[in-house]
Amino acid sequence: AKHTGRGGIEIFDQTLYANFSTRLHNETALRLALQRQEFRLFAQPIIDFEHSHCTGFEILIRWAHPDGRLRSPGQFLDIAEETGLIIPLGWWMLEVAAEQLERWQADSMMQHMTLAINLSPRQLLHSQLLPTLKSIFERYQFPRQQLHLEITEGALLNTERAEPILNALRHFGLHLHIDDFGTGYSSLTYLHRFPLNTIKIDRSFIQAALEDQRSLAIVRTIINLAQTMQLATIAEGIETAEHIQVLRELGCQAGQGYFFSPPVPLEQAADFACSLN
Ligand code: C2E
Ligand code: CA
Ligand code: CA
Ligand code: CA
Repeated sequence: AKHTGRGGIEIFDQTLYANFSTRLHNETALRLALQRQEFRLFAQPIIDFEHSHCTGFEILIRWAHPDGRLRSPGQFLDIAEETGLIIPLGWWMLEVAAEQLERWQADSMMQHMTLAINLSPRQLLHSQLLPTLKSIFERYQFPRQQLHLEITEGALLNTERAEPILNALRHFGLHLHIDDFGTGYSSLTYLHRFPLNTIKIDRSFIQAALEDQRSLAIVRTIINLAQTMQLATIAEGIETAEHIQVLRELGCQAGQGYFFSPPVPLEQAADFACSLN
């Protein structure tokens, strides 16, 4: 509240109100979208460099807005995370992924495919994460090592809280990826402290690696580090054959990117894998 010239009190600040009102509007729109089942799961293939075949997919969310356009996660995930809507959205995604993995068990082409889900920081620390996973394992039959969870360094900042959760996830038999590796603050601490399986090298390093020697050195160092710690590596943002060649020479095992395929609707993932393998 501010004093106005006339001695009265201005009850609200216009810009604050405008922000609040946009937020409320966005939040309501997202809540409705969830109710109306407007979210779609896309899948981007992950390719093993050695055998040049698809071993699985990363799941990426899209919002099929009633205006007919697909919204990318950058346009709504921050609001979902802030408002907590990421929690029901996240549980729904795990459910769909588990259902898909179970269905693929009956398909000889697809039965070994993995699905990687991005866990938001809030979801990772949520008290219902482990109970939700337990319930999923009771209801769906699939080898648990085929469910991969991608966790960014930002979600691991609260190491005290994250550590027992990651240990429990590993104990379940799930595979853990550290996502966007190298873009956070204390990547090295995390590698040492948490039971991870795979390092995902951020797209920014891959794309700069062909142009400048320092980025190439960073990629080489990450891959060597991973090898020393017996972790697998997946490179993001592969856009050219040259990327593959360089990464292969450096000993990187796998990658994903537009060169192989953009994210496709999850229902089409099997067609992609079959056409390639
Ligand atoms: P990310 O986990 O780093 O995902 C990779 C992003 O790179 C995806 O963007 C993908 O479409 C894009 N990409 C893939 N290949 C290429 C390429 O060759 N070149 C370029 N320029 N880009 C490529 P997308 O789908 O917009 O997702 C953005 C971010 O949103 C993701 O980054 C992830 O952090 C987050 N995200 C996406 N889906 C989910 C979700 O379901 N849950 C949570 N918590 N986060 C999600
Ligand atoms: Ca990811
Ligand atoms: Ca990533
Ligand atoms: Ca990234």
